[in-house]
Amino acid sequence: MNASREYKARLIWDELVRCAQTRPKATLYYQDIASLIGGIAYGVGHFLDPIKQFCEIQSLPPLTILVINKSFERPGRGLQMEDFNLNEINVLKDNVYDFPWNNLVNPFAEFDADESIDGLIKDYLNSSKEIKDISKYVKQRGVSQLLFRKILLKTYKGECAFCGGCLENYLEAAHIKSWEKSSSEERILPSNGLLLCANHHKLFDADILIVNENLKIELNEGKVRSKKQLQFAKSEISGLDRLRLPSNKNYWPDIDFIRERQKSATR
Ligand SMILES: [Zn+2]
Repeated sequence: MNASREYKARLIWDELVRCAQTRPKATLYYQDIASLIGGIAYGVGHFLDPIKQFCEIQSLPPLTILVINKSFERPGRGLQMEDFNLNEINVLKDNVYDFPWNNLVNPFAEFDADESIDGLIKDYLNSSKEIKDISKYVKQRGVSQLLFRKILLKTYKGECAFCGGCLENYLEAAHIKSWEKSSSEERILPSNGLLLCANHHKLFDADILIVNENLKIELNEGKVRSKKQLQFAKSEISGLDRLRLPSNKNYWPDIDFIRERQKSATR
């Protein structure tokens, strides 16, 4: 089946939820998922990944843990569970079995076979779709955040806006105006975001490192809670000056969002 990644994730989600509710407790093999979506067991991880990330962002039990490797009888490498021992995996599995999945809407329900997050972003970046056309696909925080991060990875060319660090796995999408306060469109608007490495994201979210109206990065000592934190913040701001911005000015941080954020951070 030559369908989009999110459409396949949508089919897999339903299958995993069905499995989570089956009694006696059941698991699925990679081969089962491959048969469901068409393809080979080896490629399944690519389609489990959006579900795994969704569960992480939404603080849900790790639904994808129900998919296990036939030879080892445990989750495969792609799910990054190598450090978990069997007991820990069983506890997580029980959390999955106990969770009321039926109360949730399939997060990928809006995606048909020919629609993908990558496709939406491409259409947005070449101006054939507007942010409001895209926001209707991403009603849940977990999916919205997946899309937001991917847009920022593109506009910031995979580099932290503070330090230029560029290990993709460590890059995160930070909102300038918080997710809670943002409209559904502002939640995925590149000008309301910064692509940041994990350290800089934490310090920015804590308002310890802030961005001023000239888009310069500053230390906000008012939010520092300990000597150790101050030391860390100082080392993390060392050598930084102005934000590293996308080449296209349309994606630069909106100055109103920046002002508002600076005001609330220094209050
Ligand atoms: Zn950084």
